[in-house]
Amino acid sequence: MIGDREVILFHDPRTLAHQPDADAAFLPGRLDRRVREILSGLGAKWSYPEHPGRLRAVLELLEREPVPGLRLAPGVAATREQLARVHTTSYLDGIQALRGENAWLDVDTTAVSPGSVEAAEVAAGTAIAAVEAVMTGGARGAFAAVRPPGHHAESVRARGFCLFNNVAVAAAHAQAALGCRRVLIVDWDAHHGNGTQEIFWADPDVLFFDTHRAAPFYPGSGALEDVGGGLGEGYTVNVPLPGGAGDMALLKAFREILVPAADAFRPDLVLVSAGFDAHRFDLALNVSYEGFASMTRIVRDIADRHCQGRLAMVLEGGYHTESLARGVHATLEVMAGADPEDPWAPGLGAVDEAVAFHRDAFNGP
Ligand SMILES: [Zn+2]
Repeated sequence: MIGDREVILFHDPRTLAHQPDADAAFLPGRLDRRVREILSGLGAKWSYPEHPGRLRAVLELLEREPVPGLRLAPGVAATREQLARVHTTSYLDGIQALRGENAWLDVDTTAVSPGSVEAAEVAAGTAIAAVEAVMTGGARGAFAAVRPPGHHAESVRARGFCLFNNVAVAAAHAQAALGCRRVLIVDWDAHHGNGTQEIFWADPDVLFFDTHRAAPFYPGSGALEDVGGGLGEGYTVNVPLPGGAGDMALLKAFREILVPAADAFRPDLVLVSAGFDAHRFDLALNVSYEGFASMTRIVRDIADRHCQGRLAMVLEGGYHTESLARGVHATLEVMAGADPEDPWAPGLGAVDEAVAFHRDAFNGP
């Protein structure tokens, strides 16, 4: 029942200081000029889609419609040592040099503003705080409502609005500092988590399961055949989907691929790269709020079976603020103990009764 499970939502206002502005004065450079040219050719005013209003929408909805069993806690900045578990020191040096600047890092529209480096450190550290909360028994579930997102960031490269790979930093921390041997990462963002895949490609102690819209949709990776390499072969599981794939497809993938894979893997901790751009309002896939609730139920059950319910989620994408806020809300309700029906279930019982009622109407005497 909702309210049965204690859940902590981690939020830190420092993550709102990441405000890349398409109109800001950039560092002089070839890439900046090129991006300017692209933007000026768009014809319409382009604004950075990964903006602070995303988190505000999530928090405002939770204030209006509180989730029983949910409490809020502040975040914390990640240390360099924690970030360096998944990023190279030269990459970290490059990001640090941008503190206080406006800059484009990548043609994939990853930009920074003066508050961005600290926001990214806090996003990664807050993902760690969520993991610590569930590992030390502070809560059964934890949700890090952070930005910038993380799953496109590779060990040496910022991509797709992401600076540090928050979920990877959290997984590595669970292993290095909290006694977790095996970590399951489920990525249901509409985009492939190329960074998470790259970081744990050869690691058999991290099972990475990713449903996403198939290439050539951004970032273009995540083919069925990409299953990890070396010792990690078989520990990367990609499920590329056509545009428009919705609840039935996602839940079938979860039940028929994720569940048996997780049961064989026996994780000590379950992490979710929770992106809500799989909702139909974001136009990439066709998931409903009830679909997110059912996916949450499946990962919650995996955590209950294998690791005392230890489930931590880290926010990734979701650019339509209404569906982002509603999607997070639906997810938190299930983390707090709600038991949702399958999205297609409502009405099926009534139709069964109607079938029985009308069965003889057209069969003649
Ligand atoms: Zn995404």
